Amino acid sequence: MFCISCGPDLVCFTARLLYISCVSYNDFGFQTNVKQFSVYLDMHIKSKLLAVHLKCGQDSFSSGGPKVCVVGSGPAGFYTAQHLIRARRDLEVDIYERLPVPFGLVRFGVAPDHPEVKNVINTFTQTAKHSNCSFYGNVNVGKDVSVEELKQAYHAVILSYGAEGNRSMGVPGEDLAGVYSAKDFVGWYNGLPSCQKLSPDLSCETAVILGQGNVAVDVARILLSPIDILKKTDITQPALAALAESQVRRVLIVGRRGPIQVACTIKELREMVKLPDTRPEMLATDFEGISEAIKDVPRPRKRLTELLLKTALEVPDEKEQERRNKASRMWAFRFFRSPVEILTNPDSSRIAGIRLAVNRLECSQEKWRTCPVAWSSAVSATRVSPSIHLYLLTPAKPLTPTIPSFFPGLYCSGWLKTGPTGVIATTMNNSFDTARSLMEDMESGTVDISAAKPGSQSINSLLKKRGVKPVIFSDWEKIDSVETSRGEARGKPREKLLTVEEMLQVAHK
Ligand SMILES: Cc1cc2nc3c(=O)[nH]c(=O)nc-3n(C[C@H](O)[C@H](O)[C@H](O)COP(=O)(O)OP(=O)(O)OC[C@H]3O[C@@H](n4cnc5c(N)ncnc54)[C@H](O)[C@@H]3O)c2cc1C
Repeated sequence: MFCISCGPDLVCFTARLLYISCVSYNDFGFQTNVKQFSVYLDMHIKSKLLAVHLKCGQDSFSSGGPKVCVVGSGPAGFYTAQHLIRARRDLEVDIYERLPVPFGLVRFGVAPDHPEVKNVINTFTQTAKHSNCSFYGNVNVGKDVSVEELKQAYHAVILSYGAEGNRSMGVPGEDLAGVYSAKDFVGWYNGLPSCQKLSPDLSCETAVILGQGNVAVDVARILLSPIDILKKTDITQPALAALAESQVRRVLIVGRRGPIQVACTIKELREMVKLPDTRPEMLATDFEGISEAIKDVPRPRKRLTELLLKTALEVPDEKEQERRNKASRMWAFRFFRSPVEILTNPDSSRIAGIRLAVNRLECSQEKWRTCPVAWSSAVSATRVSPSIHLYLLTPAKPLTPTIPSFFPGLYCSGWLKTGPTGVIATTMNNSFDTARSLMEDMESGTVDISAAKPGSQSINSLLKKRGVKPVIFSDWEKIDSVETSRGEARGKPREKLLTVEEMLQVAHK
């Protein structure tokens, strides 16, 4: 008996375990022996064994099946890998991730008080633990290893590294202290290592959020949520401490268009309406003519706008009125307004307010356009948190996976492909599409899989030469276990490690 990878010597522990399990079946009267072991191998355990063997650290093998690598371990990376390994049992996928921890924005973007959204991590974990899938964290593609080197090592490379640049608003004063991109602010409270120095100034009474999508509403909710709610989530301890001291009592969520165009979803709006110790304070003038205008809009949009209308204009029942009267914090959507200038105090570089233009909406070729019609007075004594507005991402030009001649063997999925739009479910669908395109291209021969490729074997030796030690999935599980036990001690689901150094220390212990 031998390990396919190690040769005739029985050095692979996994092979030995499988062999032992064949023999022990014999003890129960089954016709099993070395022959049965090879039957096991024929029944695709062969490929599993090889992959597990690779994980045991001895990397001298070639299975001959197609080898694909995915760059980025967010939802796109995992859903693409999942589809590929389900579609073809001899296919191996390696996922390379820049950070030592997986899951992208599911870990660093999704709001801490939305734990149910993070359940997708269970599915991603199953994929990562599949014997035909390997995770290599702490590998920054473009720095530690180039895309060209990946293309040499694999039959196909799928780029799924998300969309993470900030978009400038082009408004004077947007670089001032006190203006934060939503990416950084969200990364700060969610423990993204590169955002831990942000330490936002929460000593003001009013915060303005530019943008009215779900991320804007997430930020508003986190700024206004009672600490007793937040402390039971996986929000980081420094963020929790800063929010406990926060003086922010009023959050304005500003959008250039009107209530019918608001970009958040009804679930997020309902959460705001019900947020303890807060009351809504909208402007009735923002809703003029809206009741008539929603008659013909599609049902989901109608329901969302009706909830906005109700929250803004309806007199609440006695109980709700009492709750609102007692509330110490307030939130509101401000519609038809665009930022014009961030204002400062004459004697300082800190922000003092924001000047907004008041817009009129015009509909042209079924697209809504805003035209400024007046300057509103400045919202003063605020700090400004630009929101989704600043989520512009890279690259602007998506690669087209269905035109492989464009870059043979190079594909992309997720937010890298679509830009920063849609939820995890939409990312899943577009990732499955990319995986399907690759499978078709393999079948048609457009992607040549006839010659064996070295896959992670060659990349790992390059990384070793460059002094990069990858974090494999079982290393991540060590981090996970430290985080969950630290969280348990504080009555929360996890306490995230906040620096790459600490993550690596735990992973490589
Ligand atoms: C603040 C926020 C909150 C959200 N909340 C929700 C929600 O509640 N529900 C919902 O359904 N959707 C939510 N979304 C949307 C959801 O997060 C996205 O649809 C999804 O994460 C996009 O997946 P992705 O894999 O394309 O990108 P990402 O999740 O960004 O993953 C990209 C991965 O690539 C890695 N990477 C980057 N560069 C490199 C490199 N050079 N080398 C190797 N790896 C690299 C990154 O570290 C990251 O792990 C939210 C988005 C944001 C921004």
